[in-house]
Amino acid sequence: MTDFGRSNAPLDFKLCVICQEKSTANLVENPTSHQKLLEAIEERSKYEDINSKTLWLVLKDLPLEELKEKATWHRSCYQETTHSGKIKRVKKRFQREVRGPNEARRKTINDILDILTRSKTVSYDSNLCFFCEEKAKYQNPLHLVSTSSAGSSLDNAVKQSKDPKLLVKLSTALDSTDAHAIDIKYHKSCWA
Ligand SMILES: [Zn+2]
Ligand SMILES: [Zn+2]
Repeated sequence: MTDFGRSNAPLDFKLCVICQEKSTANLVENPTSHQKLLEAIEERSKYEDINSKTLWLVLKDLPLEELKEKATWHRSCYQETTHSGKIKRVKKRFQREVRGPNEARRKTINDILDILTRSKTVSYDSNLCFFCEEKAKYQNPLHLVSTSSAGSSLDNAVKQSKDPKLLVKLSTALDSTDAHAIDIKYHKSCWA
């Protein structure tokens, strides 16, 4: 599909409402899925899908009843537009381009880490349990996180807990010159 420069031109309802191409072959007779098509076009337009954006500018002001009366489309255009996998792809591309929510969240965590690290309120003492900051006890010995895979599962556990204090401790513990020499100890009961 191409841009038809129709931002000012009204839609020709004798043609496929989606592509407006001259071919009237295979237009759907008495289509019923206008609502679904509109939703797909609205969603796509949010993700800067150019064709949908121009289309949405026109369609959003049309009463649904009028649209239902007049509009039809090529089956293939409809399928292309409403295909949820394809919409997801448009969304992903859009989020990559504008640095989407994931990127933003990561940045926020880093900001918190920055502030807490600079305030030096939290650092990890490797003689203590990473989680509760207590020493080893006879019935509750400390275990050492030694392998890199355990290190990354600790990493995951901490990130899932979303506890900024734990995040800072983790980052200070991992900030040693040798990233493999993670020296983190923990009570089994604390790492649930
Ligand atoms: Zn079409
Ligand atoms: Zn503990």
